[in-house]
Amino acid sequence: MTAKFISKRKLTCWTPKSEADGIARKHFDFSAKELGKVRHTVRVYDTTLRDGNQAVGVNFSVEDKVKIARRLADFGVDYIEAGWPNTTNSSELEIFTRLRNERLRSKIVAFGMTRKADLSCRKDENLNALRSSNADCIAVVGKAWLFHVEKVLETTADENLKMISDSIAYLKDYGCNVIFDAEHFFDGFQDNPEFAMATVSTAAKAGAQEIVLCDTRGRSMPNEVYEITAFVKKKISKPLGIHGHNDRGLATANSLFAVMGGAEQVQGTINGVGERCGNADLVEVISNLEFSLGVQTGLDLSKLTRLSDYVYEIANLNRNYYQPFVGKHAFAHKAGIHGHAVSKFPEAYEHVDPSLLGNTRSIVVSSQTGLANIISKAKDFGLHLERTSAEAAQIMLRIKELEGAGYNLENAEATLNLVYARSLGEKLEYFDLIDWKALVSSDNNGASCQSTVKVKVDGTPFIVAAEGNGPVNAFDTALKKALENQYPELASVKLVGYRVREINAEKGTAATVRVFIEFEADGKRWSTVGVSTNILKASEEALLDGYVYFLYKKNSRC
Ligand SMILES: [Zn+2]
Repeated sequence: MTAKFISKRKLTCWTPKSEADGIARKHFDFSAKELGKVRHTVRVYDTTLRDGNQAVGVNFSVEDKVKIARRLADFGVDYIEAGWPNTTNSSELEIFTRLRNERLRSKIVAFGMTRKADLSCRKDENLNALRSSNADCIAVVGKAWLFHVEKVLETTADENLKMISDSIAYLKDYGCNVIFDAEHFFDGFQDNPEFAMATVSTAAKAGAQEIVLCDTRGRSMPNEVYEITAFVKKKISKPLGIHGHNDRGLATANSLFAVMGGAEQVQGTINGVGERCGNADLVEVISNLEFSLGVQTGLDLSKLTRLSDYVYEIANLNRNYYQPFVGKHAFAHKAGIHGHAVSKFPEAYEHVDPSLLGNTRSIVVSSQTGLANIISKAKDFGLHLERTSAEAAQIMLRIKELEGAGYNLENAEATLNLVYARSLGEKLEYFDLIDWKALVSSDNNGASCQSTVKVKVDGTPFIVAAEGNGPVNAFDTALKKALENQYPELASVKLVGYRVREINAEKGTAATVRVFIEFEADGKRWSTVGVSTNILKASEEALLDGYVYFLYKKNSRC
């Protein structure tokens, strides 16, 4: 269902009656003025494949880059900065050949530096590599902070300006479209505004089609970015862009304030992956451009959640469940009063309709939950539950008991589903575990384990033994073998995750432990939880729930 949201028009209809009311109106008037300025189309420049690849722990192969580029183009970004072609890494040149053959609708950009000091462009191998990339555009980065010029490059201000103009002219001669990235522009401007301005006006004169102001250390404040961008906008006729880093957690805010100051291109990476603390997160920037500033990016935002997940997956990074707009928990309601309110008025606790971002609302059930969440969750499970029924009260009580004993049902939906099913009188008697044993032997060559399991299925006892690399693994193998006599479909079930957490660690090896197990079959995943002072007993409980849940769902479908 598409949620209804209160329109700004309605809010601004208030007539100021007090000082506070006047302030509220002033705030909205300010917004309206700023919004008026930025109602232009902003070009989105993605650098996940270049700056994102510089994040610690991320290392995209050529194949990974091609896959992500296809998704970015399908999403509709204007530019894809694909890499830094150079003579020392052949894969950085290969990606441009591959992407040319893909004929993507986004412009492909090659990134590189201005020529080295005191070297001609013709002899500069990296500039020649940029030319040979045959990319749609070249982003050439030059220093805009005198400190860097004198101390890091160890050259002069004049030579640095020549490096900028020569490099752009050299690439333009070859027919390249050039974007100039003014590195450390905001730091450089605050240190020596005349020099910083000379770098961007030199680039503009040399033929750069866009000038990108970079907050390379992520040190700037949004008001500084706004004012400096607005100043440069008045002096430079070429369109401006913003490249923000997140070292102070301000990259999204700085990108938005640059747009309010007149920038027409925003740079960043999907999920904010990048050097140190990362780049501006395009997920946040794009969503705020659309929903907060009313800028039309022309992008299909309903693909944003899947794009974010995809990049996490290819980058081999854990998803951030709390990520604004696209996180699994971004629209999850846990407190009872919240769940109750959003079931009637989604805008009560949601700033935007999650379906616009391809995300979904979820109602979380826990001991802090009210009846509204309990009823809403029953619907998710395909069960009918009346708000005033004894079963609803019983389920709430059972959840509180379980969480009091150390269970965490928020991450174990299959166990929670079984709590509901049992309370509603569902028969879940697929098998009866009589007993099981495990024998662990350890010697200098390692440890091994044997387990014997006795189960009764439909009155027939089965005794099965199996080996494993530990007691849980041996028990699981033996149990599954025994159950497959009656339920061969269990062969498709795999364990894909097993986590143990101490609940009262101060008791050392006698601590109560919580075991989470994740299962997978036929492309579906489910999680269960078990709790005990004995790790084997907690594992047994979570394992049994996992197999019972599978059989229950299989039976419900028949
Ligand atoms: Zn950067």
